[in-house]
Amino acid sequence: MLTDTHTHLYSDAFNEDKSKIMQRAFDAGVHRMFIPAIDSETTQAMYNLEKEYPDNVFLMMGLHPTSVKEDYEKELLHVKEQFLKRSFYAVGEIGIDLYWDKSTLEIQKKAFKIQIQLAKKHQLPIVIHCRDAFDEVFEVLETEKGNDLFGIFHCFTGTEAQAKQAISYNMKLGIGGVVTFKNGKIDKFLNKFELKNIVLETDSPYLSPTPYRGKRNESSYLQLICKKVAEVYNVSEEEVARITTENSKEIFGI
Ligand SMILES: [Zn+2]
Repeated sequence: MLTDTHTHLYSDAFNEDKSKIMQRAFDAGVHRMFIPAIDSETTQAMYNLEKEYPDNVFLMMGLHPTSVKEDYEKELLHVKEQFLKRSFYAVGEIGIDLYWDKSTLEIQKKAFKIQIQLAKKHQLPIVIHCRDAFDEVFEVLETEKGNDLFGIFHCFTGTEAQAKQAISYNMKLGIGGVVTFKNGKIDKFLNKFELKNIVLETDSPYLSPTPYRGKRNESSYLQLICKKVAEVYNVSEEEVARITTENSKEIFGI
């Protein structure tokens, strides 16, 4: 059994053929899907998805760094309101993205910190989105580190030193399509870290693994990521599936 720890299955990209996409995922052995939030615009679509697939879909709640704009306080209020109504499996995805917008760095940091504290209050993991912002993300984690801080460094694409640092904050490395890319680099050093530090993800509909690079991604492609990770570690795919699913249970508590 495979666990996709990061998949945006509520995305409009799946509106036309969602049930086929879900069936293909089940056929590929992917029965557990963890769903990261973006902002208030996507909340209802997430709830609808959960209603349709209550045994397979597990929701997170949070404000994505690229949605941290002038109205971010209102958006954070929306996140907090959802937590008053019901429970979630993580606070995510949260973090810092300096690829799309550098001008919002200060409020991105603030929103990240506030949401880490929200996760701690609910004893939940965080799921980190970090793009062109390792130093800035580590700076925040450094001020929040401790036994109550844990989670996943989603779509990990950093160096060996950055992997080591991420793990030092009780983070697992979320490994996705990038591990299958020719120039993805992480496949060169990943096996220096034990499998217990790794979870698998697709980040659907983005970041398709080879040979679907550039096309729409879907959770069934997790199989291809599992296969590549098995090669990198020189173990069987079953072993990778078993250990990474165990790791996901340890993090999300389900
Ligand atoms: Zn994502």
